Amino acid sequence: MNTQKSQNAFKEAKKVIPGGVDSPVRAFKSVGGTPIFIEKGEGAYLQDIDGNKYIDFLQSWGPLIFGHCDQDIEKAVIKAVQKGLSFGAPTTVETELAKEICELFDDIDKIRFVSSGTEAVMSAIRLARGYTRRDDIVKFEGCYHGHSDSLLVQAGSGAVTFGSPSSPGVPADFTKHTLLAKYNDIKSVEKCFQNSNNIACVIIEPIAGNMGLIPAEEEFLQSLRELCNKNGTLLIFDEVMSGFRASIKGSRKFTKVNPDIVTFGKVIGGGMPVGAFASSAKIMNELSPDGPIYQAGTLSGNPVAMNAGLASIKKIKNNPRIYDELEKKAIKLTEGFKEYAKDNDITLQTSVRGSMFSFFFNENPVKNFDDALKSDTKMFASFHSKMLQNGVYFACSQFETNFISTVIDNNTIENVLNISKKIFNELKNGR
Ligand SMILES: *Cc1c(COP(=O)(O)O)cnc(C)c1O
Repeated sequence: MNTQKSQNAFKEAKKVIPGGVDSPVRAFKSVGGTPIFIEKGEGAYLQDIDGNKYIDFLQSWGPLIFGHCDQDIEKAVIKAVQKGLSFGAPTTVETELAKEICELFDDIDKIRFVSSGTEAVMSAIRLARGYTRRDDIVKFEGCYHGHSDSLLVQAGSGAVTFGSPSSPGVPADFTKHTLLAKYNDIKSVEKCFQNSNNIACVIIEPIAGNMGLIPAEEEFLQSLRELCNKNGTLLIFDEVMSGFRASIKGSRKFTKVNPDIVTFGKVIGGGMPVGAFASSAKIMNELSPDGPIYQAGTLSGNPVAMNAGLASIKKIKNNPRIYDELEKKAIKLTEGFKEYAKDNDITLQTSVRGSMFSFFFNENPVKNFDDALKSDTKMFASFHSKMLQNGVYFACSQFETNFISTVIDNNTIENVLNISKKIFNELKNGR
């Protein structure tokens, strides 16, 4: 496979863009090699600038549940573009999308749109702090909630890959209110509550996707809910990744626990930059301009992005059965991987939630960040680059989640499995 043009493009990019990329994980540092520069997407496939085609299991890190260039979303976007790109004034499509989402969840009355997941979570945290008039927050090791200051503490994939769990440029004073707990370990959360009676919120990815895919255990989430209730602390579900991905209701198909605030991103924009945070009317009414808690955005609720999101969410609501089909395909793929790996004395741990899936090169079950870190990242890197050379595009880190889109059919899965069979054998033989 010739990737000369991508290699040249990367060299050029590095001259004018730090590391040649606008988001660090794209640089392929954790798997070696150089990133593929994309020319275009088409259904289940990516095409790079050298003309190579790849089956895409990344789907822009999640948003493209219907694959590339979905006709319904594309049409909605083009129609919106022709009416003007941005007004900085209300449009009815915002209300329409808000209604579609509020309808799905009993505990969500109101939602506000922003332009990224980072912004959604940052705003949700401010809302929780403003509402409770408390300062401290609890987050979990390995969960990623965007790159805002107080959340860039043990933040999963990108941050781990570079061995900098937090970052220079974030004053210690800003993170001293961030308490860390262990995923799926309620005792570690109890300790946080013993150390502080000033906890505004506990934020969690109820289906963690940024240390590889690690679902929270139901019992753990229930205890978390009880602990929050007892302490007058708000529970925030960060469903920027799992929202409309794990199921039409995100994590809620898998847990009975309801959060106080939820954040969305990725699929909610259908491929355009959209984030959102939502809650009960009582909490949301504290936001400016109704309440005192300030939050704003020049391009928030951008009409082109909102139309992409609306087309995406409507299509999902019209086809609620896609998730069962997606999950079946994800299971077929991961179980196949596991079997071919085992044939070559390699142990894989796999996890699937709807259209999300992970495979860890790991001897033992993976339930938290420490477990995930024990994975054989060298072997993952080798697997990743061999798959890539064979035209299969997976997330470029052991600590990221992969995605199935509706345009990936069973034949494609079988082709990928056949390719993997050969590759697991090569891995065993150290080739
Ligand atoms: C991707 C992600 C974010 C950040 O979203 P951006 O759009 O990249 O800012 C936050 N939380 C979770 C769980 C995510 O997966």
